Amino acid sequence: MTQQTFSFQAEVARLLHIVTHSLYSDKEIFLRELISNASDACDRLRYAALTEPALLAEAPQLEITIGIDKPGRKLTLGDNGIGMNREELIGNLGTIARSGTATFLEELPKDANGAVSLIGQFGVGFYSAFMVADKVEVTSRKAGEPQGWRWTSDGSGNFAIDEAEDLPRGTTITLHLRQGEDEFLEPERIRRIVKKYSDHIAVPIKRAGRGEGETLNMASALWSRPKSEISAAQYNEFYRHVAHTLSDPWLTIHHKAEGRLEYALLLFVPSEPPYDLFHPDRKHQVKLYVHRVFVTDQCEGLVPPYLRFLRGVVDSEDLPLAVSREMLQHNPVVTRIRHALARRVLGELEKEAKDDPAAYAKFWENFGSVLKEGICEDSENRAALLKLARFRSTHSDDLVSLDDYVGRMKEGQAAIYTITGEDLGTLAKSPQIEGFRARGIEVLLLADPVDVFWLDMCPDYDGKPFKSATRGAADLAEIKAPKADKPEAEAPIPENQIGTLIALLKQNLGDAVKNVRVSDRLTDSAVCLIADDGDLDMHLARLLQKNRQIERSDRRILEINANHALIRRLAEEATKPGAAARLQDAALLLLDQARIIEGEPVVDPVAFARRLSTVMARGVGG
Ligand code: ADP
Repeated sequence: MTQQTFSFQAEVARLLHIVTHSLYSDKEIFLRELISNASDACDRLRYAALTEPALLAEAPQLEITIGIDKPGRKLTLGDNGIGMNREELIGNLGTIARSGTATFLEELPKDANGAVSLIGQFGVGFYSAFMVADKVEVTSRKAGEPQGWRWTSDGSGNFAIDEAEDLPRGTTITLHLRQGEDEFLEPERIRRIVKKYSDHIAVPIKRAGRGEGETLNMASALWSRPKSEISAAQYNEFYRHVAHTLSDPWLTIHHKAEGRLEYALLLFVPSEPPYDLFHPDRKHQVKLYVHRVFVTDQCEGLVPPYLRFLRGVVDSEDLPLAVSREMLQHNPVVTRIRHALARRVLGELEKEAKDDPAAYAKFWENFGSVLKEGICEDSENRAALLKLARFRSTHSDDLVSLDDYVGRMKEGQAAIYTITGEDLGTLAKSPQIEGFRARGIEVLLLADPVDVFWLDMCPDYDGKPFKSATRGAADLAEIKAPKADKPEAEAPIPENQIGTLIALLKQNLGDAVKNVRVSDRLTDSAVCLIADDGDLDMHLARLLQKNRQIERSDRRILEINANHALIRRLAEEATKPGAAARLQDAALLLLDQARIIEGEPVVDPVAFARRLSTVMARGVGG
């Protein structure tokens, strides 16, 4: 077959343009990226050979080799791993394999500096070879297949494929170095780069053609070494390898369990949320090893979905080496590891929350919404998760914990008050919590979409029930808390006036409301809507309605503020002759006003505008 030429996928062409034209200073990371791929290729072959040992036969020792050809100005990186056939070369090295990279391109800012910092965050895998090479040749023969292939490109839009004869198993990448990149032909420089970035790679990395010569890296699985012998830099490098990132982790959790269940975990919490954190499949990416052999990064049962932000590895001593991915589905060992892993991670998080609350708050901003899914799903760890949870509240601008909240509860206060909605700013200004604020009673402001769901699952914390501030009676009179020291307004409205007003409002509003009553939760606003005890929370009802999960929501209660000037005025009017007819517009306007504050549409905008005009016309002129 003669040589065939292909164009790169448009995204790859764009990526290559950035990679070759950017002034990214840490060019040496190309070696890290290529070694990382080579090590993955060896892992994949070792796994395949568990069921098909013949695949390893021609070269049972897996290794990575680095060749330096000074006069030819070529650097080669070889591995005897799984290799790629023609289709795989075209697919893997001509399109974007990793979803993160595709996102990287979408996020890419127009200016070159931004692009450079993003390269730093994501790494660009194989394509980073073009940072230092103006021509790259990849020869590869897939394990178990006779024919080898050569892939070549100068990185400018096309690549070519042709047959290659007599290749060893695996992949060799030859970099024709650009002018000015001669430093990568210095053996000492290469040795230092390998040490720096790839020491933790479990496959030996050797200089090509040196027989059993020097191995450049430690070549043992990092997680199997004692903690005391691992530096922070080594942990961070390993994180970058497993997480496909160039940033540092926020938290490293390294633990070896011995006894009934034997396993090691080396897990990391990223310092920034990964782009696919809210992908609907909620898959985690922790890799499962058995006796230091990579098995899969698709073992769903290994990590609960609410911890899917974790990166790293779990290495089990109890699973059989020849375990198939299917067998892992409902494996009791996997289940037990998952339980232990969740407990360990939550325990470490609790420690962090205590030791460094500010850093923990940042973590919570990044991953709190995901952890809160666990409050719904993981009843076993619910208490621990609630303890870890942080919220916005009326108390301060800082995040608060439920323990903080409970510690501040007023005498006679039985419930933890919450208000849910879509937007923190609006929630903070809700009329329903005015009375709570005025009495110094804290309300949790819950604007995360997941909040309504865990609240629904979770009756109480520490024996204190959660209670929506927009539902049922506020019972604020029971709580011994100082009222705001606003001078007590005027004398209360006479009972008969307010009673008559309420009767008139009920008569005019009819079925549009469930009830009308005087509020003890309003201080500044004239009116607000409330859900009756036992009815759905109003925000949840709106949400369900929007998603068409319920037809229509329960009727609400209209609460009026008997100290508000408008209500006082209306009450005065209510006892005069002919009031029923004259207050009709006012009644409907009060209800519409309450709806607007809730962010709900007015039912009949035209009628609303007409009423408003009438009332204003009457009012202007005084
Ligand atoms: P990533 O490694 O993040 O998937 P890359 O662009 O580095 O992205 O590589 C794309 C794909 O090419 C890899 O997922 C892998 O399937 C394949 N590949 C790269 N290098 C090798 C190699 N040395 N041996 C076998 N396959 C490889």
